[in-house]
Parts: sequence; structure tokens; C-alpha cells
Amino acid sequence: MTFLFNSDARRGAVFADAFAKELPDLPFAMDAATVDPDTVRYLITWAVPENLTRYRNLEVLFSIGAGVDQFRLEAVPARVKIVRMVEESIVRMIQEYVTLAVLALHRNLPIYLAQQRAGEWRDVPQLQAASRRVGVLGLGQLGQAVVDRLKPFVFPLAGWSRSPRGIEGVTCHHGETGLEQMLAASDILVCLLPLTEHTRGLLNADLFAKLPKNAALVHTGRGPQLDHEALVAALDSNHLSAAMIDVTDPEPLPGGHPFWSHPKIILTPHVASIAEPATAARVVIDNIRRHRVGLDLIGLVDRTRGY
Ligand code: NAP
Repeated sequence: MTFLFNSDARRGAVFADAFAKELPDLPFAMDAATVDPDTVRYLITWAVPENLTRYRNLEVLFSIGAGVDQFRLEAVPARVKIVRMVEESIVRMIQEYVTLAVLALHRNLPIYLAQQRAGEWRDVPQLQAASRRVGVLGLGQLGQAVVDRLKPFVFPLAGWSRSPRGIEGVTCHHGETGLEQMLAASDILVCLLPLTEHTRGLLNADLFAKLPKNAALVHTGRGPQLDHEALVAALDSNHLSAAMIDVTDPEPLPGGHPFWSHPKIILTPHVASIAEPATAARVVIDNIRRHRVGLDLIGLVDRTRGY
């Protein structure tokens, strides 16, 4: 029975150390070429390796990141459990990033950055936070952590999920009608949705048209959820005021892409949150212990929902 680590050596060394201390009875391997594929019970990776079916006894496939959209779920045998990374650094860092982005957009930072570059000293009218409505697409682990962190700023908060949710201090919406209601009342829209067949391309011209004039976007979901051309058009027509974008499709963006130089876009290179290797290793070890005694796995993916 082997645990196969299929990612970079730096993180691998941290995992190897933790596994040696915590699960000394489980052989840990980082070089697939030297492992008998029949012994592999657990595999952690970012993308699913081409030859996954050679691991005939694989029981759990762990994603080293928070999402599993990079896996082609249909390529993973039905008996294999798929687990995403649910880890404290990912949560804390996404709280930091979205708070940074919401405050930057609330306080008109894109305008002031553009003015600074142009040598202009001019204030723009500033709304109070209590009048700036923030809507969050996705009320899962990360969406809930984000609304929680935003509460003290007194923004009116709303969120949208597939199934009904109840969160104190947050107007919760779900389903198609819920989406329309939330969009109409979101001055800053934050995307924290997983990439699925239902969310691919969701941030498009139709959706932008349903936002109030001068609304702004924070995109921390996945690149293929956003229609780049539609965003640029909505910004250039002054329907949307600004955007802070962490994820794009493709990543990295090609040279000359309008996001690089658009004055109303702040772009970061998919860094909103990153799992910290030591805590990620602890989470995986905990899940292996749970798996061994038949407990539910933390972060188990529901294949029918796709997340
Ligand atoms: P999660 O716990 O699985 O929550 C997903 C949320 O999205 C749930 O509230 C879910 O609704 C909702 N949802 C999914 N499909 C929907 C649909 N079709 N319509 C309406 N709501 C839908 O996931 P998470 O841990 O919060 O992570 C969310 C995503 O954040 C990840 O999948 C990844 O794409 C992104 N992320 C980005 C970064 C970054 O660095 N940029 C880092 C980490 C994660 P229900 O509540 O009804 O299930």
C-alpha cells in the first residue's frame, strides 16, 4: 500500500517528512517510475496523470488545490473517491484577498492608480460602506469565510448558492431567480464558485447587464467562468466601473491581452490563496486516517454536482 505524491519536490519534501512522522506504516513515494502501480492506494496531484488506470487499486485521489476542475472527473474510475484540499491557509488567504479587493474597489483604488500614473490629484465621490452592497457567488467553505470576514466593514452582504443557505447577517439567494435578485443588488460582485458545466462562462454580458451601473467585479473563482471580451466591453461602456481579477483563461495571459493594461482592471497571477504544504500534509494524513476507519472524508467531491 503506497501513497504517491505527484507534484513539486519542494512540497513533496514537506509531505514526506510529515508522513514519516505521522503514518510511518504507509510507504511514501514521489517517483512514479519506481513504484509498483498495483501498490498505489492514495495519489495526490494537481492534474490527473494520463495513465491513471494503471493504478488498479487506487482508492482516493487527492487534489493538491482547492478545486477539482482540473481533473476530468469522467476519467477517474467510479470506485475512486475524489477529495479537494480543504485547508486553513487557503481559507485565510482567500479572506485576505477578497477583503483587499472589495476595499480597493470600494475606495476607488483603480481610479486613483490611473490618476497617479497621469499625475492627477483629484478626489472622486466616496460612498459609505453601509451603502455599498457586496454579493458573493458561492457560499461554500470560501464564500462563507469571506462574508464572515467582511461583516465588520458593514457592507450590506448577500450570497448565492445552488441549494438554500441561511447565514446570519447575509441575504442568502439560490437558484436562477435568486441569482437575478442578488445581481440587481450587488455593487461589488465576488465570484467564488467552483468551475462546473453550470458555472463555465457565467460571468458574461448577460450577467453584467443585470448588475447595477458602476458595479465592480472581483473574480477569484476559475478562469473559464469569465468572458474576457464581455468584461472589457462592460468596462469600456462604463456600465461596470472596475474589476480585480485573479484567475483567467488561459493562465498566464498572452502578451498584448487587454487585461494587462486596462486602467480599470487590477490583475494578479492566480495567487489569491495557496495551500501551505505543512497544513496541507496534515489534512491529507487526517483524511487517510479517516479513510482507514471508514469515516467520511473531508472535502469529498460529489461527482454528480462536479464539486
Ligand atoms: P465549496 O465549499 O464546494 O462551495 C462552492 C459553493 O458554490 C457552494 O455554495 C455551492 O452551492 C456553490 N455553487 C456551485 N455550483 C453552483 C451553481 N451552479 N449555482 C449556484 N451555486 C453554486 O467550494 P469552496 O471551497 O468554497 O471553493 C470555491 C471555489 O473557489 C473553488 O472551486 C475554486 O474554483 C475557487 N478558488 C480559487 C482560488 C484562487 O486562488 N483564486 C483558491 C481557492 C479556491 P451549495 O452551497 O448549494 O453547494
